[in-house]
Amino acid sequence: MSGGARRAPLHRDRASQAGLEPAGICRHALDVVGRLQRAGHESYIVGGGVRDLLLGETPKDFDVATDARPEQVRALFPKCRLIGRRFRIVHIYGGGKITEVATFRADTSGGAPAAGFRADAGRIVRDNVYGSLEEDAMRRDFTINSIYYDPFGDRLVSHERALDDVRSRCLRTIGDAARRYREDPVRMLRAVRFLARPGLAAERDTGAQIARNGALLGAVPPARLFDQLLKLFHGGAALKVYQLLREHRLFGVLFPQTMQALEHDAHGDFDDFLQRLLACTDERVNRGLPSTPAFVLAGLWWLPVRDAAARLRAHGVPAEEGGSRVRGVSEEEAVQRAVRDVAREQGRSVSAPMRLVAIVREILVLQRLFTSSRKKDLSRLLTHPRFRAACNFFTLLEQAGLADRADCPGWARIEDLERKSRRRDSGGRGGHGGHGGRGGRGKGRRRNAPRRRRKPAGGAA
Ligand code: ATP
Ligand code: MG
Repeated sequence: MSGGARRAPLHRDRASQAGLEPAGICRHALDVVGRLQRAGHESYIVGGGVRDLLLGETPKDFDVATDARPEQVRALFPKCRLIGRRFRIVHIYGGGKITEVATFRADTSGGAPAAGFRADAGRIVRDNVYGSLEEDAMRRDFTINSIYYDPFGDRLVSHERALDDVRSRCLRTIGDAARRYREDPVRMLRAVRFLARPGLAAERDTGAQIARNGALLGAVPPARLFDQLLKLFHGGAALKVYQLLREHRLFGVLFPQTMQALEHDAHGDFDDFLQRLLACTDERVNRGLPSTPAFVLAGLWWLPVRDAAARLRAHGVPAEEGGSRVRGVSEEEAVQRAVRDVAREQGRSVSAPMRLVAIVREILVLQRLFTSSRKKDLSRLLTHPRFRAACNFFTLLEQAGLADRADCPGWARIEDLERKSRRRDSGGRGGHGGHGGRGGRGKGRRRNAPRRRRKPAGGAA
């Protein structure tokens, strides 16, 4: 690895020879690049979209890089917004899509600090320093993410190793891996994502330096980490992500309580359960079904919550604020309190939004009802909006040998209801699935509708 090289030569190729055609790019991103070029600016499609096309994956979106300053970009597009504190980028709206436009920037991490740059233990705190295309190519994280496609000129400009790395499906940091991870520890999580999907092989240092620098993730704001986790666990390769996070020793940094529970899990049942749950999440994501991050969180917290709830049951809680008297708690209250405590502790490394914590609480509180043979519990379960999620969750616990269903006739109704909602999934999107709302961010929140009794669909299939 060439540690300090800042101006490695870029390769210039014909894009069509590398297999790229404008037809592979979404209309809106093409329009953005076209308009910028007609206004006299250099502009390219760059990043994940180009990388995914070259690797034979379906691109999620297309990012644009340009020499136009954010204000110049804004002047060209009526429907846009300037965003970002770290980097000022422009979001351009159109055709139901958002195309992200970033101005070429220089890597401000090496040598003398440039204007507008402050370093904090090697971490870049601000790098809004504009630069040339060459500088922009060098400040990107991995070679495969440093490929610029001009769809109108059939041109490809790329980091000198990028196309070879695409061909050999190799993930390689640009420059010294340890230094690049120290500058921005989130790059380690991005590395894990690309190793999991599209399933690349890490160049030696790119892989080895993750475990050595993992603790630095502790300095990243918990909310930024949560955004990364959404991408990690909802990209259709969550099981692989879990295995890689453990292998590269990042899992314990992100989920200390879960890691501790795994270490005390003598027979590996909890690990087995988590793997099943993540495989189930992958299946849903890959089938285009809705999936909520709360389901994964509930899985990760299940054992820490169970243990904390058991402690609360055994010791009780203060009867009044600040008092010394102790009162007992019901099983349900114990789980609710345990979720709150585990969430609070989790928030020190990765913080989950409260609305997700509320769903986790519901899923976990409902688990007890599956082991109850009381009629009242059964009817509460069957009419609960989280029934399907909770039921999926319980089934996974059972499969891992961590729960036993109640021996009661009510289970026939649970199974019937479960089968019906599964059939709705097979018919396409919708249904419940316990997940609901991919990525689970912001306004797209989709409350799952309460189960409605339907007419029997002509015999249980
Ligand atoms: P995807 O959009 O599929 O999640 P991506 O690689 O496009 O993957 P973005 O977050 O959209 O991810 O970033 C766009 C590009 O910006 C990346 O391809 C990379 O070149 C650069 N980039 C993103 N994050 C970093 C980072 N932390 N350090 C350096 N470069 C980065
Ligand atoms: Mg992208």
